[in-house]
Amino acid sequence: MTDAVSLIRAKRDGQRLADDDIRWLFEAYARHEVADEQMSALLMAIYFRGLDRAELRTWTAAMIASGDRLDLSSVGRPTVDKHSTGGVGDKVSLILAPLVAACGAAVPQLSGRGLGHTGGTLDKLEAIPGFRSALTPDETLAVLTSAGCVICAAGSGLAPADRRLYALRDVTGTVESIPLIASSIMSKKIAEGTRALVLDVKVGSGAFMTSYERARELAETMVALGEEHGVRTRALLTRMDVPLGRAVGNAVEVEESVRALQGHGPGDLMEVTLALARQMLGLAGIEADPAAAIADGRALAAYRAMVRAQGGDPDAPLPEAAYTQVLPAPASGWLTGLDALKVGIAAWRLGAGRARKEDDVSASAGIICLVKPGEAVQAGQPLLELRADEPERFGPALAALEGAAAVSDQRPAPQVSPVIEEVGPA
Ligand code: URA
Repeated sequence: MTDAVSLIRAKRDGQRLADDDIRWLFEAYARHEVADEQMSALLMAIYFRGLDRAELRTWTAAMIASGDRLDLSSVGRPTVDKHSTGGVGDKVSLILAPLVAACGAAVPQLSGRGLGHTGGTLDKLEAIPGFRSALTPDETLAVLTSAGCVICAAGSGLAPADRRLYALRDVTGTVESIPLIASSIMSKKIAEGTRALVLDVKVGSGAFMTSYERARELAETMVALGEEHGVRTRALLTRMDVPLGRAVGNAVEVEESVRALQGHGPGDLMEVTLALARQMLGLAGIEADPAAAIADGRALAAYRAMVRAQGGDPDAPLPEAAYTQVLPAPASGWLTGLDALKVGIAAWRLGAGRARKEDDVSASAGIICLVKPGEAVQAGQPLLELRADEPERFGPALAALEGAAAVSDQRPAPQVSPVIEEVGPA
């Protein structure tokens, strides 16, 4: 028999938690016999002391066991999902899910909403008139079976312990812990029932992980956790120093995704999307060329089928912002940098993101990057187009963009690939 205080003390003093103790902890927490302040203290101890690989496996398993695990075996196609740690202009899921579905896999994308400067996939899709992201498990399965992909909210039944833990971490300074992030992400993905998973771990100024070393450690930890739970898992490390593509916001990212599915996507966005698609198809055991599925229209058809199956009208006009304002280039030369974090914060202040979970987002607010790093600019030329529903949003957004654009009179070296490397099982 154990108790919460003993576990807190043990972890505080650098000892391991036994498997039975971790299982007891989650069961007692679910019965409200362990208080939130005790769980918070333990999370802080873990923040400083970490969890070793065996502890993390048991911790994650206990989070999964706190709720339901979906059974997708009736779908009749290999299931494979993708998760991104979040970036600015990261609309990859909107293109990737239908693309991989068009190649023969089933993609169950159970997603979250954006919080802070990185947008959420559901917020983006909800810019489409009629689109529903709150589906029951039966509806999720029906859309997945008919359209080959579904992008919807992870229901409250999946890893409910994570919801409570995340809320505590958010207010106790314990979000930035690799074992806690890895168990949070992977418990939800494993509970969702996918057989394979590709992780897009972003690195750079606009990412959760700003250093390569931390991003690599997070990727290796999540890959190991997935494999230990029977989910074939790979990760790609990708750059997030500049916004991905040109659009940052909700409706504007849907528009750019549709253009990408029509074969007109920006180079960096397509490079990341196709690299992830190849990984997903490899894990699903499907030999197919994703670029061909875009060129012949199959990926766009899968996207339209998914949007319709979730109540949306893929032909309806998207909401448009009432006000626009441009940010001019500060000098002539070449744009050498466009800080993803600053652009993300500006889009958020324009209304595209939320400060608290309960806030609404604006479908039409956002930013269009009219010039991308590597391209030539003239002083005064429009660099960014800002869109908002209320004109008073522009001042704070422009303040966030102070120093975001770097212009040099030296032509920069060609842009490096946004895909850094693949991380597989050790
Ligand atoms: N996303 C999650 O789902 N959990 C974390 O801890 C961090 C990012």
